[in-house]
Amino acid sequence: MKRRCVCITGSTHGIGFGIAKAFAKEGARLVINSHQPDTEAANYLGKLTECHFVKADLSSVDGARSLVVQAHKTLGRIDTLVNNAGTFTDKAFAEIDEPMFNIAFNLNVKGYLFASQAFSELVQEGHENASIICIGSTNSLAAEKNSVIYDSSKGAVLMMVRSLSLSLAERGIRVNGIGPGIIETPLTQPGLDHPGVRRVLEAQIPLGKLGKPEDIGGAAVFLASEKASYISGQMLYIDGGIVARQMSWEVSS
Ligand code: NAD
Repeated sequence: MKRRCVCITGSTHGIGFGIAKAFAKEGARLVINSHQPDTEAANYLGKLTECHFVKADLSSVDGARSLVVQAHKTLGRIDTLVNNAGTFTDKAFAEIDEPMFNIAFNLNVKGYLFASQAFSELVQEGHENASIICIGSTNSLAAEKNSVIYDSSKGAVLMMVRSLSLSLAERGIRVNGIGPGIIETPLTQPGLDHPGVRRVLEAQIPLGKLGKPEDIGGAAVFLASEKASYISGQMLYIDGGIVARQMSWEVSS
C-alpha cells in the first residue's frame, strides 16, 4: 500500500485505536482524534508511523468539519476518512429523554455526516481510491431491547453508507461501513464486568467469543485499499456470526 493518509474520528481508545494501529502497521500517515486531550495513543502510534493528534468534538458540525480540514492541512491530503466516534446512551424506552437522544444522534449520525461532507469537498478531481468508512454496528441490522436510541442511530448509519455511496460515486469516492458485534472496549467494559454477562453473551455468539478492536482494524485497511476499489455502499458485519443466526429448532437436553 502507498503511504495512505487516513483520518480516524474517536481513535484514542477502543475500536478507533484498533483501526489506527492496523493502518499504522501498513505504514499509513495518520490523524487520530478525541474530544479529550491525548498523549498516550499518539505516542504509541508515533513509534510505528507518522501520527498527529487533533482534539475536536465530533458531536458538533463545527468540530466534525474542523477535524477534517485540520487533518487535510496536516497531511496534505486525506485518502480515507473513518467515521468511528460514537456512543451509547440508552435506558428503558419509558426513561429516555431528549438530552440522551441528542448526545447519541449528534455523535453517531450528525458527526459522521458533516465529517463526510468536509472530506468530500477536499477530495480533488482525479484522486484515486478516496473512500469513507463508517462504523455502524450489528444494531444497524438487528434491534436490542432497551436500545431504541442506539439502534435508530446505527440504522441511520447503514442508510448513510448507502445514500452517500450514491451521492459520491460520480466523484469516485467509495463509501462503506463496518458493523462490529460485541467488541471489548472502554465503552462495553462496564457492561461486560457485570457478573455472568460475558458468559451469556459468548453463548449467543456462533464463534463463541467476544471481538477485539484488532478484529475490526484489518477489515478497515482492506476496505480502504485498492483491493476494495470496486466495493461501495456495503456494510461488512464483523461479529463472530451474530447476524447470521436464525432461531433454532434444536431441543437442548
Ligand atoms: P469507546 O468509547 O471505547 O471509544 C470511543 C472513542 O471515541 C474514544 O477514543 C473517545 O475518546 C472518542 N470520543 C468519544 N466522544 C467523542 C467526541 N464527542 N468527539 C470525538 N471523539 C470522541 O467506543 P468503542 O466501543 O471503541 O466504539 C467505537 C465505535 O464502534 C462507535 O461508533 C460504536 O457505536 C461502534 N461499535 C462498538 C461496538 C462495541 O462492542 N464496542 C459494537 C458495535 C459498534
